[in-house]
Amino acid sequence: MTETLATGYAAWLYVTGLAALGIAHFVWRRRGAPGARPLAFLLLALAQWSLTYALHWDSPSPRLQQFWLDATFFGVVSAPVCVWLFTRAFTQPNRPMHAGAWVTLLAVPVATWGLLLAGDPGGILFGQLGTLEAHTRLQGGPGFTVVVVHGYGLMLLSALRLALFFRSATDPYRRQAGILLAGLGLPWIVNLVSVLGLSPFPELDLTPMLFLITALVFLWGLLGFQLFDLVPVARHQVIEQMGEGVVVLDRAGRLVDLNPVARQLADPALPTPLGHPAERVFEQWGVAAASLGALTGDREAASAELTLGEQHLEVRVTPLRDARRQVQGHIVVWRDVTAQREAEAELRLAHEQLQLRMAEIEHLQHALREQSVRDPLTGLYNRRYLQEALLSAQDSPFSVVLFDLDHFKAVNDLAGHAGGDAVLRQVAACLQASRQPSETICRYGGEEFIVVLPGLDSAAAVCRAEQWRMEIGAQQVTYGAHLLRVSISLGVASFPQHGPDLDSVLLAADQALYQAKTQGRDRWVLAAPVV
Ligand code: GH3
Ligand code: MG
Ligand code: MG
Repeated sequence: MTETLATGYAAWLYVTGLAALGIAHFVWRRRGAPGARPLAFLLLALAQWSLTYALHWDSPSPRLQQFWLDATFFGVVSAPVCVWLFTRAFTQPNRPMHAGAWVTLLAVPVATWGLLLAGDPGGILFGQLGTLEAHTRLQGGPGFTVVVVHGYGLMLLSALRLALFFRSATDPYRRQAGILLAGLGLPWIVNLVSVLGLSPFPELDLTPMLFLITALVFLWGLLGFQLFDLVPVARHQVIEQMGEGVVVLDRAGRLVDLNPVARQLADPALPTPLGHPAERVFEQWGVAAASLGALTGDREAASAELTLGEQHLEVRVTPLRDARRQVQGHIVVWRDVTAQREAEAELRLAHEQLQLRMAEIEHLQHALREQSVRDPLTGLYNRRYLQEALLSAQDSPFSVVLFDLDHFKAVNDLAGHAGGDAVLRQVAACLQASRQPSETICRYGGEEFIVVLPGLDSAAAVCRAEQWRMEIGAQQVTYGAHLLRVSISLGVASFPQHGPDLDSVLLAADQALYQAKTQGRDRWVLAAPVV
């Protein structure tokens, strides 16, 4: 081995180590992304491995060379663990590992680190051959075999995990898994060749450099899908700062994650709500779950509005599916809509009150209109209303009966104006009592009245006139000491028989009334037909 060759190896390894450190820093800054932490640790392990291996090549004395070669084992034993954690984070994101798994995973590296720090007592790691020999061939102590089996075992498990995921996943996860698998395969094959002593450069272990290529492929695989850029932003900026409560549950309904809004509702007696069943963490969970149905299962997203005491919450439950569309848990998001609901209730109340006011106003308007078309003394319609009644009647044949109280002046003279008023009211009451629904009775003025009879021809109108004459003639009004009676004279006219328009019909009725007066009163006269 020439010194130049050793210096060349060392230079390559320094570059590899420093590159690994730089990339580790880059990845660590995005450590919120799935798989980023194990990847950063993998890069650190590779940096340690490469740099100590570089120092090995750079060392002048065999003792130092051995020292640094031993030191590479810190990284050697850690790298497969990181690879395994990375593939696990990729294939099963958000699934926490329980304590037992951590112990199993870390037992070998921790024991190896201990042995290394203790100076490999009894040659457990490197046997009697010395590190230089053991490192490049499978000829170390029992510890060395354990380390190699552990390392290859984890690499094999990682590859299997990725291969299974690749087989069942759909794009883009499938493509991503393929890239990661290719990255994993490279050192796995070359390292095997090297350990079996089949390498054309038996003196140099290329594994740390190849591992760096693996790490770069991993990084490319993740960056290519923008997971590093998007996920931390989504997680920290959106989920953490959003006003909605967010809870992530695993398949068994245990809390995997929650944001600060959700944390405020969590039971403060628990040191950490993570890992506990949701109903243990949130006091009202049972009520909510009953309204939303079971939170586990394979169904689609569901949402409901819950009322918990004074609070109104809009809750949405969405199943979280993995790449194989298997439900791995649920995300529950809720929004406090109490203020909104209260505002809505207030608005509804205001609306109801407005409706009441409107009805009142309408009622008042109606009353006002009634007042404006009613005669205050008799309660009958007045002349203003007559016009409307006539206008609406004129589409079909109709008749009018106009009548006047006979010798009313005499009534006033006898019983005074108030006595006359009493008679007028009695006449009105009598007319109202026998009124047919279609008839409109108006006080025409003074002691004159008019009745509009829509749809009635003159013969029918004459019958009505005779009825009124008899009924009113039969009325007696006791006023003070007086017993007042009154007769009426009536003029009957019909449209279109007695005139082509309203005015001419009214005029015809008026003339008929005049005739009734002149013929001796207390009678009706039908208007003369138009010639
Ligand atoms: P005839 O119609 O039969 O010819 O005799 P008359 O006495 O009724 O005569 P005329 O129609 O000319 O008189 C109407 C009288 O009715 C005059 C007026 O004092 C009286 N009168 C009019 N409006 C009212 C009223 O609102 N109350 C009272 N008490 N009297 C009224
Ligand atoms: Mg009169
Ligand atoms: Mg009169």
